[in-house]
Amino acid sequence: SRSGFCKSNSTFYSKRNPLPLPANPSLDVTTFISSQTHRGTTAFIDAATGLRLSFSELWTAVERVADCLHHDIGLRRGHVVLILSPNSIYIPVVSLAVMSLGAVVTTANTLNTAGEISRQTADSNPTLAFTTADLAPKLAGSGISVVLERVGSTRGVNVVGAVSEMMEKEPSGQRVRDRVNEEDTAMMLYSSGTTGPSKGVITSHRNLTASVARFVSEKRIGGQVFLCTVPMFHTYGLLCFTMFTVAVGSTVVILRRFDLHGMMAAVEKYSATILALAPPVVVAMTNEADVIRAKYDLSSLRTVRCGGAPLSKEVTEGFMEKYPTVDILAGYALTESNGAGASIDTVEESRRYGSVGLLAPGVEARIVDPDTGRVMGVNQTGELWLRGPSISKGYFKNGEATNETINLEGWLRTGDICYIDEDGFLFVVDRLKELIKYKGYQVPPAELEALLVTHPDILDAAVIPFPDKEAGQYPMAYVTRKLESDLSEKQIIDFVSKQVAPYKKIRKVAFINSIPKNPSGKTLRKDLIKLATSKI
Ligand code: AMP
Repeated sequence: SRSGFCKSNSTFYSKRNPLPLPANPSLDVTTFISSQTHRGTTAFIDAATGLRLSFSELWTAVERVADCLHHDIGLRRGHVVLILSPNSIYIPVVSLAVMSLGAVVTTANTLNTAGEISRQTADSNPTLAFTTADLAPKLAGSGISVVLERVGSTRGVNVVGAVSEMMEKEPSGQRVRDRVNEEDTAMMLYSSGTTGPSKGVITSHRNLTASVARFVSEKRIGGQVFLCTVPMFHTYGLLCFTMFTVAVGSTVVILRRFDLHGMMAAVEKYSATILALAPPVVVAMTNEADVIRAKYDLSSLRTVRCGGAPLSKEVTEGFMEKYPTVDILAGYALTESNGAGASIDTVEESRRYGSVGLLAPGVEARIVDPDTGRVMGVNQTGELWLRGPSISKGYFKNGEATNETINLEGWLRTGDICYIDEDGFLFVVDRLKELIKYKGYQVPPAELEALLVTHPDILDAAVIPFPDKEAGQYPMAYVTRKLESDLSEKQIIDFVSKQVAPYKKIRKVAFINSIPKNPSGKTLRKDLIKLATSKI
């Protein structure tokens, strides 16, 4: 039944068209994308440098870079390549090249400290990194060979090449490559999932071709001019702007880093038709709408897609009032689902305020009571489970986290509290998992808690999300001090901020005699969240 809800097993099915999946088992995602052919028109424009690539130039570049990586550097199937770079035109080139060889793309947040990055690379074990001269020092002493954007050198870093140079190099003529299987890992992005520190999410070529196939079949995002301002180290930016837009033949103008006025000026300059944003940027656009509309010609802009964190009814309505000719369309996905989840695709659908839309093609959902495990029905609230060809296979080197998150039938526990209405629209109402999202960035509380308890005056700590209009939420800590300690809020904030990336900073501290726990020792986060927000 494709009626949106099937009573027999309480599974919700997508009401969108069915997903046509490619049948070739040795199809890598790069080949699948390149076979969609959009020669001629512009694929990418780098706003910072003015560099442009047509689709045919893009595929030539991908071929040449893959050739150099294979022959000159020795990159092989299964090797891991870390991308540590601000948004640039080289990220799609490098990542498509790496995946075409059967090697694995992993990324790190560019704001992360050298320590945070080295903890991640100790897990993913990359043989090679693609980075910029500015960021290369964060890899000094790591032993990882580095490919830079352009020819250069950095002390303490073993530079083995430059992408700009590889893109100019005639191919070697020998085209012996490892055979790639669709079940091979293509990508490994880091996410904390429902609990604990961040983990590598194992994404296969098959997962990605399924996600790409959806956009190819829908043809919805083709022929557009996108601005890419969301970070390409996150699933949202990486999938959207190195795969989906390429497969459908849209143009992407890449902005190196986000700033509101830079983005609005670029809409005018490039006649952008669509933006993909996270809620804090929608809020900023709304707050500064009068200045923005007076200063820039935004007449080309038709659509704003928004995902990554909740978008409230007030924010949506505020935006629509200020930008009446722009449709704002919400979407929901998570790193573990590789772009598949739910989305609002039309203005009509967007009138269902607060909803993140209909399930994507090929996606099945269940709503499950997290306490009893009972499968719920229409309009009943519980944890959202997802299943489908885009869902990742599990966490790298972490069978325990995999088993807790994905069951034997392939259902992924999203850690989000949701319901689905009688017409199949999904609503996200709360987050069950620990994860804090600061401006769309993942902050795993477990990492901050582990850091806090290394302070000699701290006996125990719990980190929770605290609601914030601008950022969505920020990390707040409940701390139990040693009896004789007079450690202050400021000292704790400083202690943490010295050791973490700025977006992970603890911005509020409260002291408590003991952290509330359940009988098995799990922190009762909901109690702390209630306590913290009752005092607003
Ligand atoms: P990430 O893996 O970083 O993409 O984070 C995924 C999580 O972000 C989801 O599990 C949700 O908790 C949250 N999220 C993403 N999109 C939305 C949305 N449209 N509304 C509410 N929460 C969202």
